[in-house]
Amino acid sequence: MVKADAYGLGAGEVAPVLAKAGCGTFFVAHLGEGVALRKIIGPDPAIFVLNGGPLDDAALALFQGHRLEPVLSSLPEVAFWARARQSGAALPACAVHFDTGMNRLGLQAGDGAATAAVAPHLVMSHFIVSETPADPHNNAQIARFAEIRAAFPHARASLANSSGIFLGAAALHDLVRPGFALYGGNPCPGSPNPMRAVVQLDVPLLMLRDVAQGETIGYGGHFTAPRAMRVATLPLGYADGFARLAAAAPDTGAFAMLEGKACPFLGRVSMDLSVIDVSAIPETALRPGMMAQVLGPAISIDECAARSGRIGYEVLTSLGRRFERIYR
Ligand SMILES: *Cc1c(COP(=O)(O)O)cnc(C)c1O
Repeated sequence: MVKADAYGLGAGEVAPVLAKAGCGTFFVAHLGEGVALRKIIGPDPAIFVLNGGPLDDAALALFQGHRLEPVLSSLPEVAFWARARQSGAALPACAVHFDTGMNRLGLQAGDGAATAAVAPHLVMSHFIVSETPADPHNNAQIARFAEIRAAFPHARASLANSSGIFLGAAALHDLVRPGFALYGGNPCPGSPNPMRAVVQLDVPLLMLRDVAQGETIGYGGHFTAPRAMRVATLPLGYADGFARLAAAAPDTGAFAMLEGKACPFLGRVSMDLSVIDVSAIPETALRPGMMAQVLGPAISIDECAARSGRIGYEVLTSLGRRFERIYR
């Protein structure tokens, strides 16, 4: 799954690495993402476009010209593709997506017969709460999907996203569609992350200053120093994708790691700047230019997310465009 620019990490860098590692099937959300991805990964891998529609002749030309495979998710989309087939157009393969509980995109179970006219190569559905294995929705969706997929003996089947892969064999089928886990997110919340951290964000200290008890920090004066503090200003703001309210809750907010110490963010995050508490670090060990870790081995994207009112997916897909990005 490399939609949304590979979850914000750069499809141009990520997709070729996945292809080299043996991935032969890619998914994107938008047709435009598919066109861009085809140029990146060359002619061979399959590329599915999740948000198939709206299908019209201009879209059809792009699907054909770049050999992109639409994921047909409604009867009008199926009818459009069927008409194109009947007119004798040379079409790429297609997938059909059945809704088994999301009520977002997808055909209804009873629509199966109508899809025969497009001879799908892949039949798929999507979990709503696979990150909670005990939730009864999972088995209900697995059962519904098994019924639907039985009507497509010649198509490959795909149900599992990252967390779905960890639900066991009944969720796996022929093809899985991991995104978040590929990029280091924990697909098993509440348990140790089976994936490695792959993203690290380090930010330099711009300036150090002493703040007296009773002074406030940042816009709105929402944080008042309960004691004399030493603080550091970082060039990291909400324009870089860092949550404006990352420090809204004093003890449960986000922190940066510096010299092995957790340094909480203080006050409102500004557009370009934020402030952390470095009082726990000896003055002699502090100097402008040293790097604080905001994401990485010491602070997972899931922990940063939980501490800033987000989910890890948002942390990744929000990562700003002003960072220097280094790929190893
Ligand atoms: C985004 C998406 C995925 C990937 O989900 P992750 O939880 O990131 O693994 C899989 N399938 C569909 C239909 C999606 O939209």
